[in-house]
Amino acid sequence: MKNYTIAIHGGAGTLLKEHMTERKEESYTEALSQALNHGITILENGGSAVDTVAAAVSFMEDSPLFNAGKGSVFTAQGTHEMDAAIMEGKALNAGAVSLITGIKNPVQLAKDVMEYSEHVFLAGDGAMEFAKSRDYSLEDPDYFFDQLRHDQWQAIKDSDNFQLDHSVKKDSKFGTVGAVAMDQQGNLAAATSTGGMTNKKWGRIGDSPMIGAGNYANNETCAVSCTGSGEYFIRGVVAYEVSALMEFKNMSLEDAANEVIHNRIKKLGGDGGLIAVDAKGNISLPFNTAGMYRAYAKANSPKTISIYKDE
Ligand code: ASP
Repeated sequence: MKNYTIAIHGGAGTLLKEHMTERKEESYTEALSQALNHGITILENGGSAVDTVAAAVSFMEDSPLFNAGKGSVFTAQGTHEMDAAIMEGKALNAGAVSLITGIKNPVQLAKDVMEYSEHVFLAGDGAMEFAKSRDYSLEDPDYFFDQLRHDQWQAIKDSDNFQLDHSVKKDSKFGTVGAVAMDQQGNLAAATSTGGMTNKKWGRIGDSPMIGAGNYANNETCAVSCTGSGEYFIRGVVAYEVSALMEFKNMSLEDAANEVIHNRIKKLGGDGGLIAVDAKGNISLPFNTAGMYRAYAKANSPKTISIYKDE
């Protein structure tokens, strides 16, 4: 019998039902469902966990609903700087990019770093040169323009504030995207992609492209993709911490993921959540915020898509 698992997220934050309209809810549910379908088709046909997470994340990068790729938030300079990472759990190969501009699918560039370079993490101009060497074409800045994100940036651009996209009180929505999967061969992979925080400056980089902080995969333990206040997730080395608790303390995926999100990162003051899958295909999707866009599917069982707590 086929056995595979996939989980995706579209960011965690102040997601409250009273701030949503039925139409918005429907668009998110539809986008999550389609992203999941892209992954399921690959897994169903015996494809790899790496290709699965890259495809699901690419789909979400193409949607203006999420803070990644097309929907990336504005920096303090009114530009878009994107970060992404991907990791596979068999040989522990990984690729990541940061501070890149104009690239339609940052997760594909991260995958290329993993597959076609001698390196793990490329940033800024160098990452853009690498993209050029791989024949990437650049999107016009208009491609990344979104009125709502522009308004969010205008509201704080003359201050020293920066903010998590999905933590804007009333308008709270959107977020970093991620996917984790176990394929039919039992291999795990994780991918994460983000536009970071609105009004970010000084080359600020969050946890998303940092292997071990926002993204991690190891066939011996689990695959993890995080979303939330990146500075805290970096300090808590969150994604690797879940794996380490399983490896060194023999915790279950569920216990390890809950311990990190509801205890360790919470104590530091960090808001957010993660999605994780273990080598047996178990899933855990904890978050300490009001909600997290999330969805998952396993072979031979229906898709589950949720936004709020207690769903
Ligand atoms: N973790 C991301 C960052 O700090 C933001 C997010 O999850 O939405 O860049």
